[in-house]
Amino acid sequence: MANRVDLAELERPALEVALAEHGHQRFHARQIFRWIYRRGVSDVEAMTDLSRELRADVARAFVLSTPALERRERSTDGTEKFLLRLADGRHIESVFIPDTPSMTFCISTQVGCAMACAFCLTGKMGLARHLTAGEIVGQVRVLAGALQMRDAAFNIVLMGMGEPLHNYDETMKALRILADEHGFALAPRRITLSTVGLLPALERLAKEPVMPNLAISLHAPTDVQRGELVPINRKYGVQDIIEACRRFPLKKRSRITFEYVLLAGVNDSPRDAHRLAKLVAGVKSKVNLIPLNAAAGIPFARPSDEAIDRFARIVAEHGVTVSVRKSRGRDIRAACGQLIVEGPKKSAAQQLAAAAFGPA
Ligand code: SAH
Repeated sequence: MANRVDLAELERPALEVALAEHGHQRFHARQIFRWIYRRGVSDVEAMTDLSRELRADVARAFVLSTPALERRERSTDGTEKFLLRLADGRHIESVFIPDTPSMTFCISTQVGCAMACAFCLTGKMGLARHLTAGEIVGQVRVLAGALQMRDAAFNIVLMGMGEPLHNYDETMKALRILADEHGFALAPRRITLSTVGLLPALERLAKEPVMPNLAISLHAPTDVQRGELVPINRKYGVQDIIEACRRFPLKKRSRITFEYVLLAGVNDSPRDAHRLAKLVAGVKSKVNLIPLNAAAGIPFARPSDEAIDRFARIVAEHGVTVSVRKSRGRDIRAACGQLIVEGPKKSAAQQLAAAAFGPA
């Protein structure tokens, strides 16, 4: 058992090398990729177009880890939340969002998150650990299988738990595995990476060959306001992020999305809307307003529908494309910023509730 390589962690070229080292032909990597990603097997024995001998060899030399599906909850709006258990017993959540109009998998990149954004429940957990590329892709394998969508077209948003650019290398490796023509063959335009804007990583991303769509969690037009909401802003400020976005190499018809969580009385005034529109005016972009998904322990409120409309209208009047994100799966706590998983004893949500309301 000592140090067997995990097939789930290998890009196809690396798998080819590993097979060659064991005296096998490289082209078997394609077959193995097809079995794992297209046909959804999680057991080498099921790869029946490999010779018996090769299967035995592969099973001896490699493992294939797959996150275990522990719980599946379905919202009244069709959104589904999946609780997955990883090999070390830690848990993550992934979300399926149907008909937006496309089918979307919302995937995690870390267990918890270190960014501690003031309005986000995942941020309350802190960072337990990064996910490996195999665990990031593993979520797609499990969801595609459970939803019988292996042959269907779907989009991926890296908007689950975690800050993808804080886990840069594994996230990029996961995107390459997802893009592999013998695996999911997912086109980069079907993937959106959402980030608080870690500048050095953003500069690196600008040079990647496989480039996802980019969404930036802006949330406020000034450093004073943003610093209160997104702590990392004290290091990478609003102007620096906008500059980096301006320089970001965008494909022809593509645009950067600026996400903006609307918090009543905090960042939803007409003045904020004017400032936001002016700020993003020089960037090929669109603004996506996300009315807060409230939760126990989150000290903010969602603005009224009138305030949301007014804000959107002002931004639009400046000639900026703006949309309001429809919140999905709130009844099962699957909406933006509501993903949080249980600790060993009490769930973090219970701890929060206890902190907010006193001991039960
Ligand atoms: N770490 C990444 C992905 C976060 S989730 C990032 O920060 O971009 C995707 C979006 O949901 C982010 O814009 C995030 O700020 C937002 N979000 C977090 N908590 C929220 C909440 N309670 N209500 C609405 N949106 C929230």
